[in-house]
Amino acid sequence: MGLLTALEGAYGDAADALRIDGYAMSREQLLGAATAVADRVAGAPALAVLARPTAETVAAVVGGLLAGVPVVPLPPDSGPKEREHILRDSGATLLAGGAAEEGLEPVPVELTARSGSSYAEPAPERTAFVLYTSGTTGAPKGALIPRSAVAAGLDGLADAWQWTAEDTLAHGLPLFHVHGLVLGVLGALRTGSRLVHTGRPTPEAYAAARGSLYFGVPTVWSRIANDAESAAALHSARLLVSGSAPLPVPVFERLVALTGQAPIERYGMTESLITVSTRADGERRPGSVGLPLDGVRTRLVGEDGAPVPHDGETVGELQVAGPTLFAGYLHRPDANAEAWTADGWFRTGDVAVIGPDGFHRIVGRASVDLIKSGGYRIGAGEVEAALRDHPAVADAAVVGAPDTDLGQAVVAYVIADGPVTGDQLTAFVAERLSVHKRPRRVVLVDELPRNAMGKVLKKQLLDLA
Ligand code: ATP
Ligand code: MG
Repeated sequence: MGLLTALEGAYGDAADALRIDGYAMSREQLLGAATAVADRVAGAPALAVLARPTAETVAAVVGGLLAGVPVVPLPPDSGPKEREHILRDSGATLLAGGAAEEGLEPVPVELTARSGSSYAEPAPERTAFVLYTSGTTGAPKGALIPRSAVAAGLDGLADAWQWTAEDTLAHGLPLFHVHGLVLGVLGALRTGSRLVHTGRPTPEAYAAARGSLYFGVPTVWSRIANDAESAAALHSARLLVSGSAPLPVPVFERLVALTGQAPIERYGMTESLITVSTRADGERRPGSVGLPLDGVRTRLVGEDGAPVPHDGETVGELQVAGPTLFAGYLHRPDANAEAWTADGWFRTGDVAVIGPDGFHRIVGRASVDLIKSGGYRIGAGEVEAALRDHPAVADAAVVGAPDTDLGQAVVAYVIADGPVTGDQLTAFVAERLSVHKRPRRVVLVDELPRNAMGKVLKKQLLDLA
């Protein structure tokens, strides 16, 4: 089924199919506004959309998709350099949601607009989005996302989460990233569910949204897990979904205690959309992201390129094949050459463990979360989990700092929310971790550097170390 077929064919008549930024609109209204945008942008090389959480943003994105023009979401609070880079790199000539500026023609978006045009579904291999990666490990890369990948990813999710037109999806995530935009907005349009965008992902806003389905990143769930009253309001929800970064097990457990249900975790990337997720009708195992979506294949490969056994213990690089993959990075021959194996699998750069039962556990990024110290390979996540077990630890991030003796030394950055010293924490984890995994240094900090999706910027921590 074409990407937008569901939107055009089966829109219901709810007056509040979309609630965002104090505005409510029906699907028919949305389609009217989007068609007017499509008239304006048809034939352009790419449409940049300043992705504030507004109805205009949604209408502009859908308008670009209707016309078959690649949509380039721009983070609204990006610095001028990042914005320059994305605009120039993507080749966008039109900008919706922003003021006129050099080289870009503004596209007005009117929510009450109508047009008589109708659009045929563009070919499935056409680019739906140029999505820039989060820039956690380097400069953001522009990933070309085919329409067919979006459709396949969303259908896989709808199946895994039993996500239907009966649902109301609530989330307050940014609309420039795969999570909030592709899953969060297009997922609602494709499944026919209502969408409530809460503006910001605060516990109070989530509690008030009355969703059946909620999306959040771990920092959002952690705040909700620390706010018993807001968490209690989520009792009536059907699914709480976490993604974009690892969900710490203590947060998982507090959510179970406060909301009466275990969250579902999913794993994916800008490049592969959604790849693996716990299923709504499956086991919700803390620390696991579950099973590959329908049609997605995964495998683990060792540093020597040989297959790694799926024994629940041995780590390997996670590689992905299937219909949800991107088509390549824009203007990045180096990154493209590195990203694909000779037999056509995508190298995620993430390290994982797969159990005999097929359940996936994400260990972290090969480049920063797999620490090589004194001949051992240590997963940063395991050390972070041991630190988080201490009652005075609010959060922890572990890196491998260059070390002349060990190659890399385990260094921990910890946010404490009670009285505790670095030495006490060192003694605490010594009871839980074997010698080579124990941090050589524990540094107490007020904050961990994070990007807009709440991901810890370990490269910045390494610069400190
Ligand atoms: P860049 O590629 O620019 O460095 P990024 O990888 O953070 O940035 P995204 O595409 O937004 O950009 O994020 C994908 C990454 O997020 C994955 O490769 C993985 O490392 C991490 N991730 C996503 N979901 C999970 C999860 N459930 N558990 C652990 N890690 C996750
Ligand atoms: Mg990445």
